[in-house]
Amino acid sequence: MDISVVIPLYNEVESLPELTNWINTVLTGKKFTYEIIMVDDGSNDGSWELIKTLHENNPVIKGIKFRRNYGKSAALNTGFEAAQGNVVITMDADLQDSPDEIPELYRKITEEKYDLVSGWKAKRYDPLSKTIPTKLYNAATRRMSGINNLHDFNCGLKAYRKEVVKNIEVYGEMHRYIPVIAKWAGFVKIGEQIVEHRPRKYGKTKFGMSRFITGLLDLISIFFVGKFGKRPMHFFGTLGVLSFFAGTVITIWMIVDKLMAISKGLHYRDVTTQPLFYIALVAVILGSQLFLTGFVAELVSRSASERNKYLIEETIK
Ligand code: UDP
Ligand code: MG
Repeated sequence: MDISVVIPLYNEVESLPELTNWINTVLTGKKFTYEIIMVDDGSNDGSWELIKTLHENNPVIKGIKFRRNYGKSAALNTGFEAAQGNVVITMDADLQDSPDEIPELYRKITEEKYDLVSGWKAKRYDPLSKTIPTKLYNAATRRMSGINNLHDFNCGLKAYRKEVVKNIEVYGEMHRYIPVIAKWAGFVKIGEQIVEHRPRKYGKTKFGMSRFITGLLDLISIFFVGKFGKRPMHFFGTLGVLSFFAGTVITIWMIVDKLMAISKGLHYRDVTTQPLFYIALVAVILGSQLFLTGFVAELVSRSASERNKYLIEETIK
């Protein structure tokens, strides 16, 4: 099978007939063999009943229904597990992404050998309150990930080589950073295609302003896990050593200072009246806390089942 189109959807009943028709027209027109996997993320507006009817009329349309709303990442991850096509396309269900882009995305993966091609909504039809923060986020993500050629990490329209989706895990709300996850897994040939973006036709957006706070936290988490996930002590331990060391040096200095003053018969004051004492105290406690956190994190990562899972590209025997 050439293509699997994975569509996460939550209460998008009005859009689905138009969307599936359009995909069918484009893909049958180009003589692709394909499947459309609708992942219903716990809709309660009749989307699932409609998917059933669509499937009866055309069996290339398949469906998976969650028992409740788990989120877009969960829907994508489940769609990825089910996908059988050599190229996997993801797109939003709200008709903001155009199926006309699929053949070119497919060509980039199969002919230009990209692992992942992300859409770039160069001209967006979203409110300013969304487009401006999005620009900042993309700039931050580019810097932190080193994927310098992407303008739009969170575009719903993306294409993947099958191997990529079978080897990455999208969880929490990490769908915003799939190119980063793919890069950490070793799929580094990541490209971009300018895609048409359209205003939402039916229904309304499922993500509010909170996306900017959770998005930032996820960005920090993903880099922490990517860099130190397998060796957390290097992170906590380094900070712990520095803090503990600073605290110890200050403490020794205060003791020596006081002993000298006593021995010379000079005036001296209680250590508890010196600001330095409190700084040293905090530094030592913080240092040992960081250490303990590091030990616990090591134990956690040691018991992770995938602690020795590596993706092997080729072997010679
Ligand atoms: N979506 C989903 N589960 C959710 C929220 C959203 O499957 O919990 C789907 C939604 O139906 C749509 C896509 O994810 O197909 C993108 O959502 P939306 O259009 O609301 O996001 P925006 O375009 O505002 O970023
Ligand atoms: Mg949308």
